[in-house]
Amino acid sequence: MDMTLPDPDKSGTFFERLRAVYDSMGEAYDEAALHYGFTCEGCTDNCCTQRFFHHTLSEYLYLMEGVQTLDDERRAEVLTLAKVVTDTYPRELEAGEILPLMCPLNFEGLCALYEYRPMICRAHGLPHRFQRPDGKNVEGGGCHRFEAGHLVTVYIDRTEFYRGLAELERDLRAELGFTGRYKKTTAQMLLDMAEHLGLDS
Ligand code: SF4
Repeated sequence: MDMTLPDPDKSGTFFERLRAVYDSMGEAYDEAALHYGFTCEGCTDNCCTQRFFHHTLSEYLYLMEGVQTLDDERRAEVLTLAKVVTDTYPRELEAGEILPLMCPLNFEGLCALYEYRPMICRAHGLPHRFQRPDGKNVEGGGCHRFEAGHLVTVYIDRTEFYRGLAELERDLRAELGFTGRYKKTTAQMLLDMAEHLGLDS
């Protein structure tokens, strides 16, 4: 990906802001989960096989910070899996079918970079709503497990979290002079990181 990395001192400030958004999101999620008595425990339908797209450089850079905490062996495994996953995308296109491919960061059902995982991984599972910048209200349901066992009585309002992330993203892009569009799966982000960090993938 064609992008200069930010000064490490400055990225610390961006990461702090991102963690604050994640923490608020986590609190709202926990509150709603408590309301519903909902947990992921024992769920066999691992949501890490969902094709999530990520749209922010801030989450890209934060996940890259996480990748650098992995030991060499685990990092090599992650990058090999990321390659396997992305190599499957063209075949899916040909077949006209999206396969449930496991995220390259998931090992034995657990996220290898849980503390660094992107927003959508934190938000998935419970009903939510948010107001788009154009004022339109959008609602979304919970995951299969939630829908099978619960009536919707409470929504997580994601508006503030998305706004916080958008403001952070705006400032980061201004800092980097990046004006492009960003839309990548976790596997694609991981391969970009390998390139940025000069790692073999
Ligand atoms: S980043 Fe972690 S939580 Fe998100 S899909 Fe991948 S393994 Fe799952």
